[in-house]
Amino acid sequence: MQKASTIGVLTSGGDAPGMNAAIRAVVRTGKYYGMKVMGVRKGYEGLIHGDIFEMSARDVSDIMHRGGTVLQTARSDDFKEVEGVRRGISTARYFGIEGIVVIGGDGSFRGARDLCAEGMPAVAIPATIDNDISCTEYTIGFDTAINTAKEAVDKIRDTATSHERCNIIKVMGRASGNIALNVGIATGAETVLIPEQEVDFERDVIEPIHAGHKRNKKHFIIIVAEGVAGSDDLDKRIEEAIGLEARTTILGYTQRGGSPTVVDRVYASQMGSYAVELLKDGVSDRIIGIKKGSIYEVDIFEGLNMPHTVREDLISLSKILSI
Ligand code: ADP
Repeated sequence: MQKASTIGVLTSGGDAPGMNAAIRAVVRTGKYYGMKVMGVRKGYEGLIHGDIFEMSARDVSDIMHRGGTVLQTARSDDFKEVEGVRRGISTARYFGIEGIVVIGGDGSFRGARDLCAEGMPAVAIPATIDNDISCTEYTIGFDTAINTAKEAVDKIRDTATSHERCNIIKVMGRASGNIALNVGIATGAETVLIPEQEVDFERDVIEPIHAGHKRNKKHFIIIVAEGVAGSDDLDKRIEEAIGLEARTTILGYTQRGGSPTVVDRVYASQMGSYAVELLKDGVSDRIIGIKKGSIYEVDIFEGLNMPHTVREDLISLSKILSI
């Protein structure tokens, strides 16, 4: 691609705390290099329909500490068809946009890949609380989400101890157990159930409770990732199996909100800035990610084909520490 002097920025799919810090970094880095930065509202819907405006460095003042995204986000079925992608590109070109920074999850990355395939340069920044994108160790929003969940579980633990109850806490994560594993370790959960591992009710739920009873444990915290199939009536099944009072708490959307942590703000700032530098230098079709703790970039087609992996080290750590 040619070096871009006018770029667009959009947020797409599920929102995540830290998206605003990424937008701010894109706009300010663009301005630093004398580029024109166009904000696209409501993701690919806004790209198709021309909901696009020029952004100044001051437009992104006072947004970094806020959750959500000031550009708003949306899902666009039209953009899943090549016609929609082409309409988006022609609208973008009408506004003079020569390259687009897409901030979102893996669905949004597929949209960015299609932009590249149809001739519009794009660079993608991973932002989803689920941390479920194979080509990066980290996605913006994850740290804030696990800290929110950690606080909730700590509070639930207080009452679990008082009542000698079993508390089941469902966390988000779609098909990934990353949130569950990290929150489980951070809160000392007795059991963590994740979609990447087959769940055996007797072995993974009942036996740890029996073992805990023998060791005088007063509470049983079970963290369940939302992607675990057949976990809806876990509380009833525990009560029926061993007569222990069990309660389920679904943390839900609280995990998606809140002021982003320092970790999320710093990664978002680094990634946003790096994305602009790539487009400025004429580099496109990239996903920005974190590998061994540092920023790196990978070809978007290659990155999207990488297989999903699970943190085996965290799975075994969680088991060792829950005795
Ligand atoms: P996330 O980016 O958080 O994973 P979604 O999966 O909902 O969220 O994707 C966000 C948007 O990205 C979709 O509404 C659609 O516009 C676009 N998108 C998703 N999948 C594809 C695809 N296979 N091809 C083109 N665009 C896609």
